[in-house]
Amino acid sequence: MRPLPSLPPPWEGIILSTKGRSREGDTLHPAPEEDSLAKLISFDIDGTLEVGDPPGAIPITVVRRAQGLGYLVGSCSDRPISTQQRMWESHDIAADFTVLKHHLGELKERFQAEEYYHVGDTDTDRYYALQAGFHFVLPGGTLPV
Ligand SMILES: [Mg+2]
Repeated sequence: MRPLPSLPPPWEGIILSTKGRSREGDTLHPAPEEDSLAKLISFDIDGTLEVGDPPGAIPITVVRRAQGLGYLVGSCSDRPISTQQRMWESHDIAADFTVLKHHLGELKERFQAEEYYHVGDTDTDRYYALQAGFHFVLPGGTLPV
């Protein structure tokens, strides 16, 4: 099991000002600018989040901060939905979504976002991310923002 790295610089870089608003008009977070959209970040769990099994590079605090700043965040994993939901609840995070990996593309129908990212540690993550039209990012990688 690899040691947990400290917060990698790219993840500091993603925490920029952003705004959140769902397509249905539900205000998820106050939006200072009406015409700006949130960015959506889907996180794989195992091997990606530090709370995964095995632990990954992304501290749960990064997810919390991103959501607090208006990013739409949630998980996309092979774990059952109920397991994903329990994981978020156990960390006091109200995830915007929990989906199975092969349903990643459904997020584009549910949420209108400026950009869509999937962060994951395997070729399977890469495959489904690219197939769904998401940017694919490795847990220690750089987001193109
Ligand atoms: Mg994984």
